[in-house]
Amino acid sequence: MKRIKCLPASPGFAIGKAYLLSQKDSFSLKVKGEEALLLLEKAKSKLRENLQLDSEKVGEEEGDIFFSHMLLLEDPEIWGKVNEKIEDGKSLGEALNEVEDEVVSLFESLHDERFRSRADDIKDVMRRIKEVIIGNELLIPEDSIIVSEEILPSHIVEFERWKPKGFISSAGSPFSHSAILARAKGIPMLTSCQRITEIVRNGEMLILDGEKGEVIIEPSDRLQKIYMEKEALRQKEEREAIAKRHLPAITKEGKRIVVYANVGNPEEIEEAKKMGADGIGIFRTEFLLFQGEDALRKETHLRVYRMAGKVFHPKPVHIRLFDIGADKPFQFLNLPNEPNPALGLRGIRLLLKRKELLYPQLEAIIEAHEEYPNISIILPMVSFPEEVKEIKELVGEIPVGIMVETPACALCLSKMAKFCDFFSIGTNDLLQYTLAVDRAGKDVSELYNPAHPSLWRLIKIAVKEAKRYGKEIGVCGEIAGERTFIPRLIRIGVEHLSVSPRFVPIVKEIIRSLNFRYAED
Ligand code: PEP
Ligand code: MG
Repeated sequence: MKRIKCLPASPGFAIGKAYLLSQKDSFSLKVKGEEALLLLEKAKSKLRENLQLDSEKVGEEEGDIFFSHMLLLEDPEIWGKVNEKIEDGKSLGEALNEVEDEVVSLFESLHDERFRSRADDIKDVMRRIKEVIIGNELLIPEDSIIVSEEILPSHIVEFERWKPKGFISSAGSPFSHSAILARAKGIPMLTSCQRITEIVRNGEMLILDGEKGEVIIEPSDRLQKIYMEKEALRQKEEREAIAKRHLPAITKEGKRIVVYANVGNPEEIEEAKKMGADGIGIFRTEFLLFQGEDALRKETHLRVYRMAGKVFHPKPVHIRLFDIGADKPFQFLNLPNEPNPALGLRGIRLLLKRKELLYPQLEAIIEAHEEYPNISIILPMVSFPEEVKEIKELVGEIPVGIMVETPACALCLSKMAKFCDFFSIGTNDLLQYTLAVDRAGKDVSELYNPAHPSLWRLIKIAVKEAKRYGKEIGVCGEIAGERTFIPRLIRIGVEHLSVSPRFVPIVKEIIRSLNFRYAED
């Protein structure tokens, strides 16, 4: 029996056999010669079928995208080059990557916009062909604990069909997008498990402790039994919380805390409602950008904002303006190549410079607000009061909130207060900017520690200032869903918590169990 310390990224306990992803991954792309040529042909015909199915599932306009992918899949020059490289002794993965690089740089060097967007198409086709190749090889036994150097968001979505019990990665951070996704799906996950792919062998029995942040390799039968009981208890607690999800969250002294949901796509709106959320604390709208140029049309926005406004009416729905840049880049927008994007044109800064991104979104919010007055706006990455003033002047009566995500915003909250109606502390970014630690940085993930006193000083200052100006303030970063931090946030005076829809019932239940005198300091 061996124990390895890691960072907890998604709570829960899992007991199951290890499935090492990296071995299989590299195996299928490392094949050479005849085997590689055969695998490639098989993958191409499978992708042909998939593209056909995809184009049937979507409307005519989106279908065109898949049609251009099909043309690329039949392009004799591209695939001729891949075959040539394999015949020259390159592995399947190397041949695909090299041809992708060559074709992409050729398209990107052409100044015509149409050719540049072809570069994105070729990247997409290459990504999909590699996925098909890996997918053909993958046959993950159900109920496995998946161990890999890196767990990507697409792994979490695609591997759902194998019903994984948990994910463990040697790299990654608990605040990465894959961790957020694993939490949303209720799958336990650990990150920063140093050298785990070298230590664990395929098929070995593992316990994943998502509370303590520990992997136990080859545990004794007695320990497995203890963990089974722990997991059963956790699930019981979850079921009880779910039964009471539509009741308000009131502490034992009678303090009501609003529990909102953070949503990131239309499906989560319904889920948030089902889970008993008191509204939408932040509606992350970046998913719309996956529709490419369509995200710059008012109609694309309006449909989803109306839906959110209607589902939650009359409860609040805070629509966050696009938070583009830093860890959320989008190729088709041709963003500047900055040496330090997290400190560059991100969030509100970018929107105020690129009005073609801002205006359709604002117009849609204004129109949706006329029908559903519960809709309001929330601004990402604010550091200067002028940024809020400019938006406020554009939207008139619609309430405008600020995400407190920079130390500048937290420390100068009083300067912001006259231009806005409410605040929500985005601790994911506030922590990264306070500690100067990249929230997704693989090598600094252990330093990204929400218990650091600097974060709590800023939260206290912000809450105190917001109250002085009579403005509602809450927290929407991941710490709002963490059992250890919830009592502390409420004691400081936070009025709302905004968490992933899945966590709404349990967060409400934790609040109901709290018993301390509510302090205003
Ligand atoms: C945050 O920064 O805390 C936040 C909620 O925003 P995001 O995670 O989308 O950057
Ligand atoms: Mg943020």
